[in-house]
Order: sequence, then structure tokens, then C-alpha cells
Amino acid sequence: GPLLKVENLTKHYPLGTGFLKKTIPVIRAVEDVSFSVEAGETLCIVGESGCGKSTVARLLMRLVEPTGGRVLIDGTDIAGLKKHALHAWRRRMQMVFQDPYSSLNPRLTAGQIITEPVENFERLSRKQRNALAADLLQKVGMSPEMMHRLPSELSGGQRQRLGIARALALQPSLIIADEAVSALDVSVQAQILNLLLDLQQQLGIAFVFISHDLSVVEHIGHRVAVMYLGRIVELAQCEALFAKP
Ligand code: ADP
Ligand code: ADP
Repeated sequence: GPLLKVENLTKHYPLGTGFLKKTIPVIRAVEDVSFSVEAGETLCIVGESGCGKSTVARLLMRLVEPTGGRVLIDGTDIAGLKKHALHAWRRRMQMVFQDPYSSLNPRLTAGQIITEPVENFERLSRKQRNALAADLLQKVGMSPEMMHRLPSELSGGQRQRLGIARALALQPSLIIADEAVSALDVSVQAQILNLLLDLQQQLGIAFVFISHDLSVVEHIGHRVAVMYLGRIVELAQCEALFAKP
């Protein structure tokens, strides 16, 4: 079966208080969304701002509770998992954010930032930590000396590489990238997209790649889900969607 299966996922946010609650009872952020992702595949989710893309990402990571529907990983419903098992499943799914600067601890070095996810689970010696940091930096095309730098001493593209290295640390099966290249210059965007494509080919990681930008998606996706007002209105192979007449 698929690595990730999403069935009829729905998220309504309560809106307002008092009389507003009666007139507009909820925001229908995500409405009856279903899709699946095979191991090693990239599914892109595209759509205008406010259509529900980030809410889907948060539902997948179980950072918010769904109003309805299910998320299955390798056939297991994550809603049934106790805290410990959920933790183990979360190791298999990692997230890469739009703005790595705000999600990277400014007081830690690059090496500490990317080895931290592993050190949450096991103690590493200084030698092991340096070896792991060097390996992760190499995977994202950075030199080992960069491990001593602070986030503020890196370029935007390097910070995004660092965010990706951190996501790779626990060897996930799936990476959810939420507007991961949107804040970057076009030339740097291309570098990061190529990096993600390389990682997918080398490591066989599946991606859920969220973007408002169709031109970005054209380069990276196997399949594309188009969202509109909380719903998937089209789900197609990338070649079919971008076929030139
Ligand atoms: P996108 O990522 O496509 O821009 P979002 O998932 O962020 O869309 O938002 C979908 C809808 O849900 C929007 O109308 C947004 O205002 C609303 N929304 C998102 N998060 C919350 C929240 N925590 N509380 C209330 N409404 C929210
Ligand atoms: P718990 O809520 O069970 O205490 P944590 O919050 O420590 O678990 O997070 C466990 C894992 O979930 C982390 O390794 C991290 O990768 C992931 N995680 C938690 N919060 C977020 C988040 N906001 N964005 C992306 N990943 C997160």
C-alpha cells in the first residue's frame, strides 16, 4: 500500500464569538481532502493563499487535530497512536519551512542545529556529532567547515540547505516542504529544487511539496493536487497538467 494515505480529511476552525458564531459558525479550511503518496514519490499541493495548504501540512504532522477524516502511515491511523508511538511515527515525517531563519535556533551552530534531532533520541560523543554534521552538510552540498557557523552567518540559500539537513537527520521516509523555496531568489530556488530532486533520487524520500507557485511545481512534481477553497479540485500527473498543446 501507499506510504501516506489521507482519507476525507476535514478541518473547520471555530470563528468568532457571540452573534458571529451564529451567522458564520466555522472557517472551512480543509474540506473532504483525500490523496495518497507512494514511497519515493513527490506530490505537490498547489493553490492560492488561504486555500488550506498549510492546514493540510499541519494535519499530516498532527500539529492540529482534524475535524474529520484520517491520516494513515503505512496503513496505521495516526489518531490511534499513543504519545510514544506518535513520536516514533513523527520521526519518519519531517518538515521543511518557508523561512528557515525563524525556525533555526539563532544561538546554535549549524552543526548543533542539524544533529539536535538525533540527540533528542541518543547521546552522541563530540566525534560522532562532528561526523554526523559533516555527513549531513555534505548531503545538502555544504562544506564541513560550515558546521561552526551561526545561522546569521549563512546566506538564505545556505540556511534553507541547513533546514533540509536537519530534516534529513532522522532519515525520514517523508518530508513535508511548506513553501520551502518561496522566500528565495529565483536562482537560489533552482539550486534548492535541484537539491531536493537529487535527495529524492539518491535516498528515495517521498515529498509532499506545498507551493503557491506553479512554475516551481512543474520542476519537481510527479503528481499535482490543486486546492481551491479547502478542496482538491484537480489531481493529475504533472506531465498531463503541464502538457503543451
Ligand atoms: P494556505 O496555506 O493555502 O495559505 P491555510 O491553511 O493557512 O492556507 O488557511 C486556510 C484557511 O484557514 C484560511 O481561511 C485561514 O484564514 C484559515 N486558518 C488557518 N489557520 C487558522 C487558525 N489557526 N484559526 C482560524 N483560521 C485559520
Ligand atoms: P511531542 O509533542 O510528542 O512532545 P515534539 O513536539 O517534541 O513531540 O516533536 C516531536 C517531533 O515532531 C520532532 O522531532 C519534530 O520533528 C516534529 N515536530 C514537532 N513540532 C513540529 C513543528 N511545529 N513543525 C515540524 N515538525 C515538528
